[in-house]
Amino acid sequence: MKNQYLIDLVETVKKRNPNEPEFLQAVEEVLESLEPVIDQHPEFIEKGVMASLVEPERIIKFRVPWLDDNGKVHVNRGFRIQFNSAIGPYKGGLRFHPSVYEGIIKFLGFEQIFKNSLTGLPIGGAKGGSDFDPKGKSDLEVMRFCQSFMTELSKHIGADTDIPAGDIGVGSREIGYMFGQYKRIQNGFSGVLTGKGLSYGGSLVRKEATGYGLCYFTEEMLKAKGNSFEGKTVVISGSGNVAIYAAEKAVQLGGKVVTFSDSNGYIYDKNGVDLDLVKQLKEVERKRIKEYVTVHPEAEYHEGCAGVWSVKCDIALPCATQNELDGESAKKLVANGVIAVAEGANMPSTPDAIECFQSNGVLFGPAKAANAGGVATSALEMSQNSIRYSWTFEETDAKLREIMKDIYIKSAEAAKEYGMEDNLVAGANIAGFLKVADAMMAYGVV
Ligand code: NDP
Repeated sequence: MKNQYLIDLVETVKKRNPNEPEFLQAVEEVLESLEPVIDQHPEFIEKGVMASLVEPERIIKFRVPWLDDNGKVHVNRGFRIQFNSAIGPYKGGLRFHPSVYEGIIKFLGFEQIFKNSLTGLPIGGAKGGSDFDPKGKSDLEVMRFCQSFMTELSKHIGADTDIPAGDIGVGSREIGYMFGQYKRIQNGFSGVLTGKGLSYGGSLVRKEATGYGLCYFTEEMLKAKGNSFEGKTVVISGSGNVAIYAAEKAVQLGGKVVTFSDSNGYIYDKNGVDLDLVKQLKEVERKRIKEYVTVHPEAEYHEGCAGVWSVKCDIALPCATQNELDGESAKKLVANGVIAVAEGANMPSTPDAIECFQSNGVLFGPAKAANAGGVATSALEMSQNSIRYSWTFEETDAKLREIMKDIYIKSAEAAKEYGMEDNLVAGANIAGFLKVADAMMAYGVV
């Protein structure tokens, strides 16, 4: 980075947010790719847009006390970071995972600003969550936790203010408990959460949306180079919501998915994964991915999730968590002939890994473009709630596919316009930024 203002801004962010490396990583990546835009538009500096962009509008941090099944009290921390509402009400998921702290929610909320803008829908950026670990807890413990979490969160959200959704550790069970509690507290039925069950205002395709959208985006990247999923071997990490539906769509588009992983290890099934079994193990029984080989002994299980990147493939879709794919893993993928990598998880590739893919001509789809299908379909759920109507699966899926195609086109065109053809990292950041910056300029200093 050569622009002195941006260099100083990174330093300010570093000083103001000590010990938050993930947030800094996200800010540095975005500011670096915005440099050519800033050089052409110094007004974004003069009017304070850049300084405001890296500072959340509001940080809410609260105590979440709950009782376990033995009557013991536990106290977790809850967060909601409402980062930017320039183009619409705050929108972004809730993550329940022991690794959650302010820096993780801040990086996710920051990324969400640009992702939401890219969808073309009127939604601002936010993220929230807790260091609560749903793993190994009973349904009643999860329910008590969710109710306590929502008792406080309900004071800060609303269908026109802030509409949270799911993320790691927050699926349909957790959304149900939280929505029920919100409805009870407010004495009103509104579309305050997305990812709801179909019987109480959920949207068809929301469950599948992030994974399906990831493959639609990847398909566009491949198509632009005269290629497709047909006959390709696909490596997927994770085995949660995003991973499962990315696999389903990759197979529908003609690919063969050979891996899944969790934080303990990965499975490799050279015949192509048995998706029904994975859904049963993960969605119904909430078991570990290693159980796969008890049903399919011909498949392999390996301890250590990073090993998944040593499996030879044409397409890699990281769908677990941040910084799960580092420079060494990227080198292995490149050596094994990978042609495309698209991020289902948020910031799964380290800066070294991205550099390795880009310098070796691998097509690279960054998270804020490639995984935007989830939040886009959440916004479609909000629209359906507002008009009290439900679109069919086919209608919603068609809208999702159109949105992903549009995100690809916008990102590719922005990259080209600013002299970085094929760099979708820069293109997505620039296209997402310009709409938000334009709205911020219109408001004056607010
Ligand atoms: P889930 O909770 O359904 O699944 C998460 C998966 O990632 C699990 O297999 C989990 O394994 C694995 N994982 C979590 N933490 C780690 C870790 N530290 N190391 C290795 N593996 C890990 O979450 P989602 O599928 O919803 O989310 C996955 C990613 O996609 C996240 O980055 C999320 O932010 C992103 N995303 C999700 C969207 C959505 O709509 N759900 C939308 C856009 C992005 P284990 O069971 O061992 O923890």
